[in-house]
Amino acid sequence: MSEALQISNLHKRFGGLIAVRDVSFSLAPGEVVGLLGPNGSGKTTVMNMISGALPCDGGTIRLGQTDITKMKPHRVAKQGVARTFQLVRPLPTLTVGENVLLSLAFGHRRHWGREARELVEEKLAFVGLAGRGDEQVSNLTYIDQKRMEMARALASEPELLLLDEWLAGLNPSELKIGIDLVQHLQGQGMTVLLVEHIMEAVRALCSRCIVMSAGEVIAEGPSAEVLAQPAVIKAYLGD
Ligand code: ADP
Repeated sequence: MSEALQISNLHKRFGGLIAVRDVSFSLAPGEVVGLLGPNGSGKTTVMNMISGALPCDGGTIRLGQTDITKMKPHRVAKQGVARTFQLVRPLPTLTVGENVLLSLAFGHRRHWGREARELVEEKLAFVGLAGRGDEQVSNLTYIDQKRMEMARALASEPELLLLDEWLAGLNPSELKIGIDLVQHLQGQGMTVLLVEHIMEAVRALCSRCIVMSAGEVIAEGPSAEVLAQPAVIKAYLGD
């Protein structure tokens, strides 16, 4: 079976700064993998290149059999890649349901009319917002905003989910809800690349981790082993 995501020799520079240097890794279908590293190590830049938000200066990105290296974000989304952001970015004048519905338009499967509304309700129920589609976004608590953000990502029915510090800012009981939700997705076979600083979440969710420092991959392997490596501990403490 081919890899769900295969990144080879990815490269990105911003002027004189090499933000990502020769980064290669892959995700098997259904794997939940942590992309870790101190601030400024290049994680978001890698996510941006996968989602098509930033052009690569070198290397290739394959999603299953498809080369998505040069695709723009809307085409990458149609190939089955969805993303959440650290800061929830809802459209505040729309309802919860409308926010999720809008994401359907960017998905790789098209749904219209009643079918679309049913899909929105299904995704809202999955994230714990059943029956709350008509609420104003401004009324949502922080965890519910996160849930909506996840429902928006799932509305496009992705095969690969990029979670960029989606759990950040949650209190301990909310964090448990967030981890449970990702574990649910894991149970459904979703492939997830997780950028996350909360080690409790990484340990609970990721069988494998990739650690970056100063634009390069410095460690990769089973989470428990990788997180115990001196080079990884040093990279974090040096932050
Ligand atoms: P991380 O997500 O690991 O915190 P980033 O990918 O955001 O790291 O950043 C990697 C490096 O690239 C940092 O030095 C950052 O300042 C730089 N960088 C990121 N985006 C840009 C940009 N649009 N223009 C210039 N430099 C950038």
